[in-house]
Amino acid sequence: MNENFLILTGMGYASKVKGSLLVDQIDAILPQTQCNQCDFQGCRPYAEAIANGDAEINQCPPGGQEGADALAELLGVEPLLLNEEHGETKPKRIALVDEKVCIGCTLCIKACPVDAFVGSSKVMTQVISEECTGCDLCLPVCPVDCIDMIEVKPANPIPFINYYQFYEELYKKQTQEKKQREIAKGRFEFHEMRVERNKQERSDLLEARMIALKEKMSKDKAQKEKIDAAMRRVSSSKVNNEVK
Ligand code: SF4
Ligand code: SF4
Ligand code: SF4
Repeated sequence: MNENFLILTGMGYASKVKGSLLVDQIDAILPQTQCNQCDFQGCRPYAEAIANGDAEINQCPPGGQEGADALAELLGVEPLLLNEEHGETKPKRIALVDEKVCIGCTLCIKACPVDAFVGSSKVMTQVISEECTGCDLCLPVCPVDCIDMIEVKPANPIPFINYYQFYEELYKKQTQEKKQREIAKGRFEFHEMRVERNKQERSDLLEARMIALKEKMSKDKAQKEKIDAAMRRVSSSKVNNEVK
């Protein structure tokens, strides 16, 4: 259990904001890149680990120092410097596939946590850029190294005309970023559900095949016993005829 959580529990915070509500609040701060750099399989598992006191608040490079500070504020604990052992904070990037080199092996499709790829076996694959979170998880699996990460240039800085307009533009930008995080979160949840469903379907299919195989084997066994009995009857009637 980490030190922050002990302080947190000591302050009685955990008793005020419990269970999934706390996890939801932590998850809402995380950037939903789903990159696993925090050592957890996605933002939600990391949020759960923080809530359980099993992880520090400074393990998310995409969230940066700003994210770690926001978590400290939410939980009412001392801020921590971002732990660089988990990686560095990079500018927003998206994946781009070199269509001429791609062999359509679909390994990237399986690796993508938000199902941002389109394509199928032996067909060239491409990325839906709006859905890509820039998690890098497709890079190591590509056998022909045809995926590049392209930096997304930040939108033009908000021009300062007057306070009202500045804050209106800032609000628009933050709303847009929040929307993107929510979309990525939804796609990750759908991806996880689909993977789980496929696993279940495979196991149901396997079970059905085993049952069918057992039934066939027992039918074959009954058939063999019938044939053996018939053979015995034939040979005993042969013996009887010879005796007569
Ligand atoms: S963005 Fe990556 S490092 Fe940050 S919480 Fe999500 S999965 Fe973990
Ligand atoms: S396309 Fe690649 S970088 Fe983009 S979200 Fe999917 S796995 Fe991550
Ligand atoms: S892993 Fe690489 S080669 Fe295979 S489908 Fe994806 S981009 Fe194409």
